[in-house]
Amino acid sequence: MTPDLASHPGPPTSAEQPLIQLAAVEKVYRMGKVDYRALRGVDLAVEAGELVALVGPSGSGKSTILNMITGIDRPTAGAVAFDSQPLEEMSEEELAVWRGANVGIIFQFFQLLPTLSALENAALPLDFLRRGSKRERFERARHNLDLVGLGDKLHHSPAELSGGEQQRVAIARSLASDPRLIVGDEPTGNLDTATAAEMFELLVRLNQEGKTVLFVTHDRELAERAQRVVEIRDGLVVEG
Ligand code: ADP
Repeated sequence: MTPDLASHPGPPTSAEQPLIQLAAVEKVYRMGKVDYRALRGVDLAVEAGELVALVGPSGSGKSTILNMITGIDRPTAGAVAFDSQPLEEMSEEELAVWRGANVGIIFQFFQLLPTLSALENAALPLDFLRRGSKRERFERARHNLDLVGLGDKLHHSPAELSGGEQQRVAIARSLASDPRLIVGDEPTGNLDTATAAEMFELLVRLNQEGKTVLFVTHDRELAERAQRVVEIRDGLVVEG
């Protein structure tokens, strides 16, 4: 008799688990003698391959959520897991290595090193991870700069690039280790509307090529174009 596979699916594989899972996450910031509850029990699951916009008023806790997901900061209570792996089990050093390999981060103000060329900036995460030879790191950085349309400005310094071009370098840098997750904290917030739209299209393309993308935005119009919009208010997910 043929076994009925459908009713015996077997143990779940990691592909069936969310890539990111936050369960009852709380974050309390202590300011002097005053505690401020920035996150008040956030539950959020993001599947591999999703393109998610995080929206909400200033101060609602969006950056804090990103910091929990990237392990830049730790929750006061609750749990954060990446691909079923609890971040709380990692030491600071393990977290840094894990982050370098699995998460690419893009910031509002690009955060490029001003004295380095586009190519050197885009290779930095690989230098940190000591991955490959110097030549291989530059090859990879060159490839990623080509991908974001900056193949002809490899040796320009950030000051010689427009805001949009600097953000492209930052996106290339975020791709250095070929991470599964790209996180953006207001990645279009410092760009004019047309350039912001271009940057968003680039994120869509990366998402179509398999990256999970999670970004914070104030731009409602851009957010509505994401596959999923998660709304944060007063330290809680209120929608999405
Ligand atoms: P958003 O990204 O939605 O603007 P944040 O996550 O940056 O919000 O901040 C949420 C709340 O926590 C705000 O009231 C902010 O002032 C506070 N906060 C954020 N980071 C810190 C910190 N390091 N120390 C104290 N308070 C903080």
